Amino acid sequence: MRITRLTIQPTLAALALALALAAACLAQSDGDGIPDDWKVNGVTVTWPDSHTKHIDLAGLGVQRGRKAVIVWVDWMEGAGHTHRPTASGDKYPVPFAAPPSAHAVETAPLQRVVRSFLGSGVDDNKGVTLALIWADQITWPDQPIPEQAQLGATYIGADNQIHYDWTAFDNIRKQRTGDYGSLFGKGFHYCAFIHSMTGLSNTGLSKGIPGDEFLVSLGVLDDQVGSAEDQSGTFMHELGHNLGLNHGGEDDIGYKPNYLSVMNYMFQRVGIANLSAYGHFDYSRNAVAPIDESKLSQRDGISSVAGLTSYGTAHVCGTPPTTLPACQDTVTPTSYNIDSYSLVWNLSCPVDWKCAQASSGTDACPLPTSLPSDTISADVNGDGCIGVLKGYDDWSNLKYWQPPQLGGGVPFRKESLPKRELDGKLPTLLTTMMVSHVDVKPSPAGVAVRWARIPLQRVIGYEVLRKGLGGRPSIVWRGKENEYVDKSASTGVPYIYSVRPVFAVSALQEAQALVAQVNDAVAAEATLLEARARKLHLLPEGSKLVRGLSTTAATVTMR
Ligand SMILES: [Zn+2]
Ligand SMILES: [Zn+2]
Repeated sequence: MRITRLTIQPTLAALALALALAAACLAQSDGDGIPDDWKVNGVTVTWPDSHTKHIDLAGLGVQRGRKAVIVWVDWMEGAGHTHRPTASGDKYPVPFAAPPSAHAVETAPLQRVVRSFLGSGVDDNKGVTLALIWADQITWPDQPIPEQAQLGATYIGADNQIHYDWTAFDNIRKQRTGDYGSLFGKGFHYCAFIHSMTGLSNTGLSKGIPGDEFLVSLGVLDDQVGSAEDQSGTFMHELGHNLGLNHGGEDDIGYKPNYLSVMNYMFQRVGIANLSAYGHFDYSRNAVAPIDESKLSQRDGISSVAGLTSYGTAHVCGTPPTTLPACQDTVTPTSYNIDSYSLVWNLSCPVDWKCAQASSGTDACPLPTSLPSDTISADVNGDGCIGVLKGYDDWSNLKYWQPPQLGGGVPFRKESLPKRELDGKLPTLLTTMMVSHVDVKPSPAGVAVRWARIPLQRVIGYEVLRKGLGGRPSIVWRGKENEYVDKSASTGVPYIYSVRPVFAVSALQEAQALVAQVNDAVAAEATLLEARARKLHLLPEGSKLVRGLSTTAATVTMR
């Protein structure tokens, strides 16, 4: 026994010493590509004219023992607008409580992405530090990138596809970031919020999948800069490509209802839904079970797995499969048929894949339980074929850095094609947005109506409608708060209350899609409301005020 211990102890000590030496020799020990020395001591950037600046990475929250992603955030600025990712208080009203309340509107668009990285659960809940280097704190010379309405050029490649020529972007990046080569490829990413890519209406582009450069181009939206959600989501989406993610996670299939990630086109501009509220900007945390489009269950929902059922999703209204072929693994969809979406409150709710049932618009699962029990076949992600849609766990599969290739080869990076990126002219999920958690109770002061806020900047308020016996619903209140007490409710009369959001939408198509859903009877009043909002400067230039669908609560009677 004694001898054994004597033998083991020196071996363990030697092993520990060897490990310590190995760790000290490793350039980076957290698997994120960032040298440990930089994490502790920072790094100095040198510009061609010998001007230098020191970047204190520790001061940005980067530390040894936790993975970090560093993004140098740069932007164009022109006459009358800046592409700096900041929600401007005078552009949209900011009526709600400060974050991080679950239903609060975010006014610092990239901060919520920072919170998602830190709260991602990666590495036994240590999370990932997303450190942002803001160009106005570091760039030399200290000016934003001069506005250029169109940047770069496109060309048709040998594959007959449209490619983006990055030369103009590269020139900006080289001028802005100093000794570029020494930083990037070591956990640094460069991002520029530009106006638009020449000849394209896509919202952004990553230079490679994975990669370390990307651009966000929200100038294509009617208000030129996008809402806080557009900025958060597009930034995180393009950064996700840099970290190796595709539009379906591992595959490049878009609009999968079981892929809950900003990489999914459906969620890029509004976030994913959790606890019935959109506005959660995140990569997927779980691989949701596959959806077989040839055997869709309408009653069973998408998932009943604990921990997933608080998530909501949406789906493209399924096209009947009579003329659709089976999907082929080798074919990546290039276009999607997304005429309309339908919201799924949570993953365990029944799903009306073909959008054939009228939604009753109530809380919890709005669809009737009388949906047929047999399975159906439909194309529910709009890619024109019937296949199996796979979920994916993004956070567990991020590629933080590219290990050096044996023999000095260049790591393989898939090119990201601009036409595969979300087109800013397409309608977003805003067209389906409804309030949740509508609660109606008689109180001494009257009927109290409460609901959950939709934490999106484009939701500028709510309307409460009341319907008496045999009457039509009429608007009894409108405002920014999420509760209302109806003091005019008569005792003994049963009332039905419903609540609907009011949006300021910028893209014309989006406005049209929403207007189509608005009840004719209130159309005239909507015009009036819009004029008033414009007068109060609550409505940004180029935006239109429209209403979403209403959520109805149970009948209530004052006694
Ligand atoms: Zn611009
Ligand atoms: Zn993309």
